[in-house]
Amino acid sequence: MTLIPLATRKGSARARALMDAAAPRTPAAHLFATEHGPHLLRSDGSRVYGLEGEAIARLSAALADSDQASLARAFEQLGFDTRALIDDTPMPQPKVRALSLAVAQACNLGCSYCYAEEGSFGGRPSMMTSEVARASVDLLLSELAPGERANLAFLGGEPLAARAVLRDATAHAVRCAAERGASVTFSITTNGTLVTPEDGEFFERHGFAVTVSLDGLGPAHDRLRPFKNGGGSYDRIIANVRPLLAMQRRMQVSARVTVTPQNLRLREALDGLSALGFHSVGFSPMLSSPTGRDELTIPGLETVLDEMVGCGEEFKRRIVAGQRYPFANMTNAMREIHRGTHRPYPCGAGAGYLGVSAEGTLHACHRFVGDEERAFGDVESGVDRSIQAAWLEERHVHRQEPCRSCWARYLCGGGCHHEVIHRGRPACDYIRGWLHYCLGAYVTLLSRRPDYFAPETA
Ligand code: SF4
Ligand code: SF4
Repeated sequence: MTLIPLATRKGSARARALMDAAAPRTPAAHLFATEHGPHLLRSDGSRVYGLEGEAIARLSAALADSDQASLARAFEQLGFDTRALIDDTPMPQPKVRALSLAVAQACNLGCSYCYAEEGSFGGRPSMMTSEVARASVDLLLSELAPGERANLAFLGGEPLAARAVLRDATAHAVRCAAERGASVTFSITTNGTLVTPEDGEFFERHGFAVTVSLDGLGPAHDRLRPFKNGGGSYDRIIANVRPLLAMQRRMQVSARVTVTPQNLRLREALDGLSALGFHSVGFSPMLSSPTGRDELTIPGLETVLDEMVGCGEEFKRRIVAGQRYPFANMTNAMREIHRGTHRPYPCGAGAGYLGVSAEGTLHACHRFVGDEERAFGDVESGVDRSIQAAWLEERHVHRQEPCRSCWARYLCGGGCHHEVIHRGRPACDYIRGWLHYCLGAYVTLLSRRPDYFAPETA
């Protein structure tokens, strides 16, 4: 087990070294080197332990021969808590806690990789009516008890193409939640081309989490997210979003960068968007697009991992120096590792979170809208619990190969269902390499800035 010299290795050599160090050896645990000596992640429970003396030799030997029985014995002898926290049982009938409304299955951009096929989800463009939006809100609120909270998200297509429906649904949700003594938070993912200062005031008033899809700075963005006539959209978006960036109090405005082989300069995008005032910047590798265009392959994923680590190193440097650095992927990873997040699914899709199509059918999430074979019922008749139960059984990480034998399975959850169903799992080395890096960064930050993990920060 060697410490990877991140500062001296660069490019795919650094990424490959991380991927190799993160390769799955046993499903029960992952041993990783840090500047504070060897550490161990116990998969079940996502618990991180520092190792000393006899424990290092004993666990290294047990992990090296990949014998599960001798590893279990070593864990017991060393006094680890070996109770299983996650078994094969699918999540029992979850309450709906978040809905995303495809208020406009139409879009004014022609993004090269769009999962929604330029907003229409493979069908004809359509707009949600206020009746369907209100019925969605009613469904969401129907399971909320006093004091509970739910999230209502607006996605598309471009949701601001249906501004009136969005505002009406928000007002309806605020009013009905108050009548129940419950509360609703709001979020929107927008391409930023239609947003106005008045929208900003509306989002500010209701404390929206606003995510603007931006794939880099200037030309890097324009290559991937042009208007349908081919013209660049970056300048318009930035001009539109500037007033919102200046307004952020209750509202938070973040940027989401979809990473393709055409926009691999992540550090440049992160620093540029952060300088504009975005509250955070997050990166999502493009693994599956309807046409196959702009999907990342292995060499691209190596570059992405190297760039992510470059951003992560700057994140560590800034946090140690007592500064803020709005790298969302790292902030989220630190929070999840610190909490010991362990889950048998990658996300809430098909469980507490569902997507609603413009017509009112329910789907596992916003990316499954338009997939009628996987409809989960509709907003009038409610969630089809038998379809949901079958989904939760089928998608449990213990039913996924090769996840069953992967140490990262309870942090990763088995990968985005949509991407796995449509493209398989081409990114496992990338995912494990990133988690391996984050585990080391966590140990460093916990030692140098323990206050960073105080509840209000982490
Ligand atoms: S999808 Fe995630 S859990 Fe499954 S094998 Fe890949 S990295 Fe591991
Ligand atoms: S299935 Fe994929 S796209 Fe849908 S909510 Fe989960 S991670 Fe997101």
